[in-house]
Amino acid sequence: MPEPVASAPRVVCANCGRPAGPMYYRIAGRIACPDCARLIAALMGKNSFAFGPWLMGALAGLGAAVAFACIWALIAKWTGFRGGLIAIFIGVFVSAAVVKGSGGRRGPAMQILAIAISIFGIWLGKGLCASWSFYHLFQPNIEKLNWPPAFAHAYLLVCGFYEMFNPLDLIWYGFAVYDGWRRPRAIRIPIEGPFAQQAQAARGPLQFEAAEFVAPPASAPPPTEPPR
Ligand SMILES: [Zn+2]
Repeated sequence: MPEPVASAPRVVCANCGRPAGPMYYRIAGRIACPDCARLIAALMGKNSFAFGPWLMGALAGLGAAVAFACIWALIAKWTGFRGGLIAIFIGVFVSAAVVKGSGGRRGPAMQILAIAISIFGIWLGKGLCASWSFYHLFQPNIEKLNWPPAFAHAYLLVCGFYEMFNPLDLIWYGFAVYDGWRRPRAIRIPIEGPFAQQAQAARGPLQFEAAEFVAPPASAPPPTEPPR
């Protein structure tokens, strides 16, 4: 006579805390239910390149870069602060916008995108600072050179990066590059399974050793992504 269901062994998902059911997985060595395994597999599916999401990430990142470059120039104009500290925010917000805009895509293509747009944002911010916020600092030289104002503004916008360079800037650029590398990097979490629980109450309360392999991990198909 089998024991009632209440005393059947139960494996609990370490992620969501619900019983895993007759089949379970191991994610980074911890028990996970099939739902959570599918979720993690879908997350890792976003490590691969896709042009549509990449483009959306690029547009979102460019929007953030332009917005923060303008904010930088405004703050510089109001406060007279010439340091590059605000470049840190460009790095962080551009990388976050790239990931968010792409719907959570990750991997090398997204990292290169985030780094490139972060540097573009810093370049633009420096250019706006030179050609607008601190134009008066360059004015004496421009008058000596007899440049027309429109040309002087255009030159400073393009070359502000160089004209306003300060060795300390390298710290901010380094941070922006680091964040562009770190935030969209691919997530790799090992998923093993599926395993089956042995529902034999006669063996007493479940020990994890009581679970057995259904298939060797190499031939086990990965959990499929849920439909979007
Ligand atoms: Zn779960």
